[in-house]
Amino acid sequence: MKNNWDVIVVGGGPAGSMAAWNSAKGGASVLMLEKDREIGVPVRCGECVDNVLFPKSIKIEDKWIDTTINKIEFISPDSSNVKIKFKNTIGYILDRRVFDSDLAKYASKAGVTIKTKAYVHGLLVSDDGFVNGVKVNILGDEFELKSKIVIGADGVESRIGRMAGINTALKMEHIGSCVQAVVSGIDIEDDSIKLYVGENYVPGGYIWVFPKGNYSANIGLGILGKYSSSGKPKMYLEKFINEHFPNGSITNYVAGGVPATNFVDNIIENGIMLVGDAARTANPLTGGGINAAMHSGEIAGTCASNAIKSEDYSKKFLAEYVKIWTKFQKKPQEQSYRIREFALDLTNDDYNHIAKKALAISEEKRSLTKIFKIVIWRKPSLIFDVIKLFAGF
Ligand SMILES: Cc1cc2nc3c(=O)[nH]c(=O)nc-3n(C[C@H](O)[C@H](O)[C@H](O)COP(=O)(O)OP(=O)(O)OC[C@H]3O[C@@H](n4cnc5c(N)ncnc54)[C@H](O)[C@@H]3O)c2cc1C
Repeated sequence: MKNNWDVIVVGGGPAGSMAAWNSAKGGASVLMLEKDREIGVPVRCGECVDNVLFPKSIKIEDKWIDTTINKIEFISPDSSNVKIKFKNTIGYILDRRVFDSDLAKYASKAGVTIKTKAYVHGLLVSDDGFVNGVKVNILGDEFELKSKIVIGADGVESRIGRMAGINTALKMEHIGSCVQAVVSGIDIEDDSIKLYVGENYVPGGYIWVFPKGNYSANIGLGILGKYSSSGKPKMYLEKFINEHFPNGSITNYVAGGVPATNFVDNIIENGIMLVGDAARTANPLTGGGINAAMHSGEIAGTCASNAIKSEDYSKKFLAEYVKIWTKFQKKPQEQSYRIREFALDLTNDDYNHIAKKALAISEEKRSLTKIFKIVIWRKPSLIFDVIKLFAGF
């Protein structure tokens, strides 16, 4: 393996593959390093994507889709089930094992060299303070590999960012602690996602049931750090599964963190860019991070290849990535964050009240907009954010 690259990408998740792919498409020589044995494994994700942003990042292939969603059910603390049916597809539950692997294959087809079992544990830095390579252990052997640009796509823990002196430290209240089980042998609708809200299910978070087909589902929860402590997320999840799916079998358990913070623009330094969860791009309301990871990777990859062409790897040049990303992401992320803060104030009584009012609307006429209106009547303080959300300022 050669030891001089234009771009080295650390991490082979959706952000890393998109960054690597787009750097290579722009003509850069690219190496992507992934610490795990296999791209896409283990799957630490509910695998849910929407049908608006996701198709903008990539042409969807059937083999990535486990189920197609056109209904949402909100279940309130008193077990009222508010179902909303949509005329069109609103989202998908992916098979991320296949999806992540295919993204990496696209990158590889564009010329990216990929190494798995490649753990990056240090950065190389030039005398003038530019990151210019990585220290990596590949299959037990140590290497120092040079590059003009490093892209840190190493997920929520983002050791690469810290090594480069970029402060993306997350406060406790900005980390979503998630646990998820794949539960099989259960009878659920394959075109509907269920969201359980209220502190009797889980305080400071929500529970999701995402159908995977073949009588199985991803059932998980996320809790903000300040509401959580060691063992609690798993305890809430087990209680929920025992009560709601007593005959189901748990065939897989995963735990992981999600950044659930306000918009961050401190994501570059000389010779280095952060993308995806490493750049805190996930939606702070839902915890969904696949779309944003892909989009940030795409923008950063294009910027990296432009930097290579211009032979300028300075923070000043790489700021083009931050500029484009800010334009796209800042407002929606800030609004999601504010709505999340508002939602944390809702009590079980609020949720039950909202569900009761929503159920008074016939199923054919029920819509997200109408439910939103009910929420606003219950909590008028939200109105400013909602106006901003729809007016786009
Ligand atoms: C339980 C759970 C459920 C979720 N559900 C959803 C959902 O339904 N929908 C949604 O949109 N999002 C969901 N998310 C969030 C989503 O999974 C992430 O936002 C998304 O994967 C971020 O992509 P990424 O490429 O930035 O990071 P990751 O997918 O985390 O990829 C980072 C990669 O970097 C590798 N890596 C880390 N350190 C190093 C190193 N030092 N050297 C080499 N490689 C390294 C890791 O092994 C990993 O493969 C969920 C998260 C969790 C934890």
